[in-house]
Amino acid sequence: MTAKIIDGVAIAKKLRTGYAERVHALAPRGIVPGLAVIVVGDDPGSKVYVRNKVNACRDIGMRSRVHSFAHDCGEGEVLSCIRTLNEDPGIHGLIVQLPVPAAFDMRRILQSVSRAKDVDGFHLYNVGSLVFGQTIFPPCTPFGVQRLLECEGITVEGKNVVVVGASNIVGKPMAMMMLQKDATVTICHVKTRDLAQYTILADILIVAAGRPNLILPQMVKTGAVVIDVGINRLPDGRLVGDVDFEGVRQKASHITPVPGGVGPMTVTMLLQNTIAAAEREANSTPIESPDFHDFERAIA
Ligand code: NAP
Repeated sequence: MTAKIIDGVAIAKKLRTGYAERVHALAPRGIVPGLAVIVVGDDPGSKVYVRNKVNACRDIGMRSRVHSFAHDCGEGEVLSCIRTLNEDPGIHGLIVQLPVPAAFDMRRILQSVSRAKDVDGFHLYNVGSLVFGQTIFPPCTPFGVQRLLECEGITVEGKNVVVVGASNIVGKPMAMMMLQKDATVTICHVKTRDLAQYTILADILIVAAGRPNLILPQMVKTGAVVIDVGINRLPDGRLVGDVDFEGVRQKASHITPVPGGVGPMTVTMLLQNTIAAAEREANSTPIESPDFHDFERAIA
């Protein structure tokens, strides 16, 4: 068996064409969806990701704004910028590019983003809503994986889905989203003993560990769908995922390449979440829950 290679670039392009139409449809109402990105420090990876986001916005007629801070700036300056952007009616989506410097209280930073503009889905309110299956902002990378599966006509219900990696931004929300689609979900992490005994059972194997060649052909069931979220730069400069692509593609039914699989979908879902926020504003749909202030006080 040779796997079908899932073309994330083509799927993302098709989705973005539809998003451009949605942006266009808002124009007569005087609304141009706007994304603000806050960057702290000079992480080289962040520069590339932010440039991709800015270009993606421009290509479909959205507005974007980047607010850059030096690595040694005060946390108060960043919080003040977030507060200003929270109130800015021209901004519908606001993200803080990770990582932020280690000295920063990341929790405080992420919780200060308005939950109505939290298009990365990292605010505790949106994390909690995800658990209840009601989030308005699914986190972009797992959301992108879910859309890839949908676009390929791969059903999740009743399947064994194994997620390798349990980070707050990829693995955990990914597992939650698959559970909500009625999969039987297993989450593996760095302390999992004998990873292969879990991965071999997967109908759908989603790998987000950041370890090149973590998944070898003997760890994959014949006919499995393999989604490689990992992005690793090898010493020779090559970009690879977490899966032995050439080996595993001989056994899987579907596989995502790196680059060109999940990566383009992450930015695409950021566009989707920002446009949805602008559309909610256009339709005056509140996201307020009467219980929210109690919840906010409880976690303060
Ligand atoms: P992360 O915060 O470092 O989390 C990695 C997770 O993998 C952790 O839960 C860790 O376990 C687990 N892990 C590490 N080594 C493992 C092993 N040998 N066996 C099993 N589990 C292992 O990273 P992340 O932010 O989730 O990102 C994961 C990867 O996806 C990275 O390569 C990142 O660059 C990539 N990524 C790609 C996109 C995209 O758009 N394509 C977006 C985001 C991230 P512990 O929790 O126990 O330490």
